[in-house]
Order: sequence, then C-alpha cells, then structure tokens
Amino acid sequence: MKLARLNTEGELFYSIQGEGARAGSPAVFVRLAGCNLHCRWCDTKYSWAQGADITEEDLAARILSYNSPGLVITGGEPLLQAPAIEKLLSLLPDSVFVEIETNGTIAPTPALAARVNQWNVSPKLAHSGNSTPTLCAQVLKDFVATGHAWFKFVVQGEEDWPAIAALCLPQERIILMPCATTREQLATARPAVVDMCLRHRVRFGDRLHVALWGDKKGV
Ligand code: SF4
Repeated sequence: MKLARLNTEGELFYSIQGEGARAGSPAVFVRLAGCNLHCRWCDTKYSWAQGADITEEDLAARILSYNSPGLVITGGEPLLQAPAIEKLLSLLPDSVFVEIETNGTIAPTPALAARVNQWNVSPKLAHSGNSTPTLCAQVLKDFVATGHAWFKFVVQGEEDWPAIAALCLPQERIILMPCATTREQLATARPAVVDMCLRHRVRFGDRLHVALWGDKKGV
C-alpha cells in the first residue's frame, strides 16, 4: 500500500486523536496517499502526490510496535486503497480500535464495514471548491447503515447549514467543526460554530491538534 510522503518518509506517528467523537484518545496515525478530491483549504495537499510503498506486513509490525489501543487511518482518501486496508486490518488484533477518516464519496466494503469500529465521515461542502460532486447521498446512507459513523462538517457559517440538513443524517451523529489550520484561525472561528451547533442542536467539534500544535505536520 502507499503511505503519504511527509518530507521523505511515509507518514506514521503516535499521537492523540484531534477531532471527532474520540478526540483525545491515543492512537497510531497512518496517512495514506492519494485523494479523489481537491479541497482548496486541504491541510495535507502533500498526500495527493505519489506515496511511499510499504507492505501490509511491515506496516502492521510498525503499528503494533507502539502498543497503541487505537489506530486512525487517514489520508488523502483512504478508501481508494480499500483492499490493502482490509489486508492490513486482518493482520491486527481485534482489540485495536480502528477509526477511518473518509470524505464520504466512496462506500465502505463489506469487510471494512464489519471490522472498522468508527467511521469519521467528513463530507465536503461548497466552500471546499471542488469541481466534482462531493455530497453522495447513497454513499452517506451506506455509512449510516454501518451504525458506526459520525459525520464531521467543516463549516464557515450559517450558509452551510441547508446543504447539511438536506442530507437527512442522524442529528446526534453530526459534528460541526471550524475551518482553521492555525491556532489564530481556530480561536477566531470557534464562537460562530458553537452558535451554529446550539441553534441546530448538533455537536461542536474542536481541532485539538491545531490548538496544541498549530499547523505542524506528523504530530
Ligand atoms: S478530501 Fe481531505 S485529503 Fe482530500 S483534498 Fe479534501 S481535505 Fe484534502
């Protein structure tokens, strides 16, 4: 499989989950290469490029060396490499809590739906600037059907809400997050997003890694 290349190395590190329903939980992070979208504010554009090859066996050994209770597979868009992820997960014990971050445009395979403990689905709204469709209603229904999906939306303001509401997702599984890649942007953007969450009775999602490390990568 192909890891995103950060500087010269494939990106893999041990940290805490910075976003979503398990924010604060320790996990090994594996960033896969390649994405089918091109969001204008993407903070990991380097993941779009040709990645670094690693066998699933070698990657499993590196993950296990951290003795971590959790694994977060992110990207890029990880589901572009679904068969390789299936093989990787078959090499890890069931006790490892597996999260996959996805942009919600590719449906989970049955094998991944059965193994993955939590899907962090982050559909991209109009302000992402993509020229291809980003909101795939049937794919999002497939994630809802797993029973293990949360839907994280990066929002800029109230004008984003109609597109979110139109998706008819379970309200208790919706998380709104500020659009921010620096501490300063995060501090500025938080209050309006908190107001949106209170108005629409959905959960606020902070960006712990940005609050802790700013725009530093690989942490
Ligand atoms: S889907 Fe994620 S990785 Fe892909 S371009 Fe958008 S923000 Fe970047």
